[in-house]
Amino acid sequence: MSLTFASWIVVDRSRAPRTVVIEVSTRCNLSCRHCFRRFSRLEERLMDSATLREVIDQCVSLGVERVVFTGWGEPTTHPRLLDAVQELKERGVEVAINTNGTTLESVADELVELGVDEVIVSLEAFDPGRYEEIRGVSMDRVVGGLEALKAFREARSSRRPRIVTHFVVTRSNVDELRSFPDFAKRFAVSKLVVSHLVPLTASMERELACFSDPACVERLERVLEEISKYMFSHYFEVYTPSSRPRIERRCPYAWASATFVGVDGYISPCIFYAHDTRYSFDSIERTIKRITFGHISDGLENVWRSRDYVEFRARAALSLMPSCLDCKLAHYCEPTLSNERDCWGNTPTCSHCPFSHGLAVCPL
Ligand code: SF4
Ligand code: SF4
Ligand code: SF4
Repeated sequence: MSLTFASWIVVDRSRAPRTVVIEVSTRCNLSCRHCFRRFSRLEERLMDSATLREVIDQCVSLGVERVVFTGWGEPTTHPRLLDAVQELKERGVEVAINTNGTTLESVADELVELGVDEVIVSLEAFDPGRYEEIRGVSMDRVVGGLEALKAFREARSSRRPRIVTHFVVTRSNVDELRSFPDFAKRFAVSKLVVSHLVPLTASMERELACFSDPACVERLERVLEEISKYMFSHYFEVYTPSSRPRIERRCPYAWASATFVGVDGYISPCIFYAHDTRYSFDSIERTIKRITFGHISDGLENVWRSRDYVEFRARAALSLMPSCLDCKLAHYCEPTLSNERDCWGNTPTCSHCPFSHGLAVCPL
């Protein structure tokens, strides 16, 4: 398919995405204070077997390279998660699972046995006391899970799964990052991904967001520099977020050729636009309306190649949209209050996406 934008001609010959993110569950066994779920009218459910079957079959037949199990819930709450993983691995697909880690111990053996490529563990503290304050549960189960994963990997002399930690930084946990090198060494963690919080309300932004507090940003930069010194001796890499809107935007989903299949089988462009929610930046509260381009039963290839989705991806990939996060008019502008339209006439729009500015980072 080719599309013309002014003097740009965009040709998309891909039959399917390279990465498919599957949301098998919108249930979670935790209730973290920073979670999107708290302000969203999210129906808690599991992906039904027929839909899961269809997603897996289509991923395999279309040659999808990587599947990531994540979403607005905890994937391990789905009873068929490991069957799905097994099938994908047997059919040659790379698999990553994003988890809060609290159920890891019970599945660690199988994750190693099945050859899962990556386990992304979300945590916002490395100290057990701080962890419990933020997540409301003891850290013991996460530690037990990581120990089990390490032990099973060693027993099988396997380098998989690679362990990644995804850390949402706030004003209250920035200093926790200092403990990461020891944590990485203890559990053989290969990578630390630091993301800024996506605050749901203006008061949450004022109280918690690190990016809106210059002193916190300075502390974060110092801490990240400090821990980066251990990268070579402790064998890990660090992905650091941008702390302010950046000139060069980059949609992580469009650039990774990724799509998101929601718990009900509807296909969204990314995790951020997968459910109705809201978020605040610079004290402007914005409403996010769910965006979908079709259902998995319409055929992933048909949806991926539909004109609306190709055009949306091209605009996101080439940043053919205004940028609201650094716009001087933002406090006087009505279109910026939702993702339904922008001042250039795009409907819908990604003009205020914190992920494209590198402020927030999603597990992909
Ligand atoms: S573990 Fe993740 S999905 Fe569950 S409540 Fe916490 S942030 Fe939300
Ligand atoms: S620019 Fe942001 S909102 Fe738009 S598709 Fe990419 S990640 Fe999603
Ligand atoms: S929609 Fe346009 S005018 Fe309004 S804040 Fe965004 S870039 Fe600025």
